[in-house]
Amino acid sequence: MIKLSGINKTYYTEATSLHVLKGVDLHIESGDYVSIMGASGSGKSTLLNILGMLDNYDTGDYYLNNILIKNLSERQAAKYRNEMIGFVFQSFNLINFKNALENVALPLYYRKINRKKRNIIAMEYLDKMGLKDWAYHLPSEMSGGQKQRVAIARAIISEPKILLADEPTGALDSKTTEEVMQLLTDLNKGGITTIIVTHEKSVADATKKVIHIKDGMIETIESNNNNLLTTNH
Ligand code: ADP
Ligand code: MG
Repeated sequence: MIKLSGINKTYYTEATSLHVLKGVDLHIESGDYVSIMGASGSGKSTLLNILGMLDNYDTGDYYLNNILIKNLSERQAAKYRNEMIGFVFQSFNLINFKNALENVALPLYYRKINRKKRNIIAMEYLDKMGLKDWAYHLPSEMSGGQKQRVAIARAIISEPKILLADEPTGALDSKTTEEVMQLLTDLNKGGITTIIVTHEKSVADATKKVIHIKDGMIETIESNNNNLLTTNH
């Protein structure tokens, strides 16, 4: 489903350049449940953003469902992203002046589904997240865990094949973290390929494969019964 080979990415600023991803090779199969761990600054978000077509890479190849994701126009990237990818962020990224229902329904607006229909579907997704009673509340009236569940509902309402989450529990307490992880685990069991960047061992432990990244390189990939699958040493 996802095939990266020799991915390099450098950020250029005025005076310097920073080589952030250094020849990343990665294979992720349909239905996989994967976490990505590594020190702050090791390139985890950069990698996830490339996977989610939010950012470009310099050299190498990225195939998503056998489509080469390279030098896409904004429009084409948006189209593929819409069809295939759901994104969840640490800081939720909800629209503050829209209520939970409107936030969840937003991707359907971009798909030109009429308001009545999208609100019905959005309510179903909120219900799945146990948030039906919160539909007309603003994000500012909700807890962190509730906001993240709204964000997850928004991420999956277009039925994407892949869910990418960048430290989705980074702003949550441990009980809420557990609840959110249970949701993500259930979604993965339902068939959605799930990739989670995390600092937390408890989060990585919930996934089936852990990718360790260091200084822009994949160090090891282990399966969660502690079998080392690959290593670069
Ligand atoms: P992680 O998510 O593992 O903490 P990132 O992928 O966010 O790491 O960042 C890797 C490195 O690239 C960091 O040193 C960061 O400061 C730098 N970086 C990230 N985004 C940009 C950018 N848009 N421009 C310049 N440098 C960046
Ligand atoms: Mg990051």
